[in-house]
Amino acid sequence: MSVMRKYVIAGNWKMNKNPQEATQLIEAIKPLVKEAACDVVVGVPFVDLTAALEAVKGSKIGVAAQNCHWEKSGAYTGEISADMLTSMGVGYVILGHSERRTYFGDTDVTVQKRVRAALDAGLTVILCVGEYLEQREQGVTGEVVAMQTKIALGSVSQEELSRIIIAYEPVWAIGTGRTATAQQANEVCALIRDTIASLYSWDVADNVVIQYGGSMNAGNAAELLAQPDVDGGLIGGASLTPQDFATIVEAATKAGK
Ligand code: PEP
Repeated sequence: MSVMRKYVIAGNWKMNKNPQEATQLIEAIKPLVKEAACDVVVGVPFVDLTAALEAVKGSKIGVAAQNCHWEKSGAYTGEISADMLTSMGVGYVILGHSERRTYFGDTDVTVQKRVRAALDAGLTVILCVGEYLEQREQGVTGEVVAMQTKIALGSVSQEELSRIIIAYEPVWAIGTGRTATAQQANEVCALIRDTIASLYSWDVADNVVIQYGGSMNAGNAAELLAQPDVDGGLIGGASLTPQDFATIVEAATKAGK
């Protein structure tokens, strides 16, 4: 099997923008990314999904939700199921983001359940993994990230892996302005690929898109994206500024994977 990885640049808007603002932001991004040779996705709050799906029409921009529940329906007040997302036309979901793990009690086990439900519903998953600063300082980054990856993929078949994108996001780099060096990013993305190869095979591991996320911006994207095992970016802060987001998309297009 040949290597067919393509860059994926995804914005994670977090809890920002109401529907009207979401439309404006997408309308501003659209012309700037129309020549993109990579995949472009915007991860918006649930209430913005309808507006975002409408706004991306006529472009190649995909729309992601930022979470989904693992059950199909039932007594889960405040939750949204994966089927609800696909019924709207949503194509992607971000799962296991460190903010969900840190503030909302997500664990490796619940992330695994969410991944299962998302795949069953037909979504493509952007699965976030990454170590805390203390874990990096204690030298256990590899173990932590391998464990998160293995558990999250626990029920994922080789065929389903084509709908999994992994985002390596060191927690100490998210929203802090402190970016991993290109070498650090590549090292851990490569380690995730090793982990996937050990679970499946090198043929499949070589085709999994592994993004870096953590203060990626217009200034540092080109260097990060030039790394052989970095296949894109999950971008928080910079995805809210059309020109910055477009510059990152352009960097991926120029890097040309
Ligand atoms: C994120 O939210 O996934 C993220 C990487 O945020 P930021 O780019 O702001 O660090």
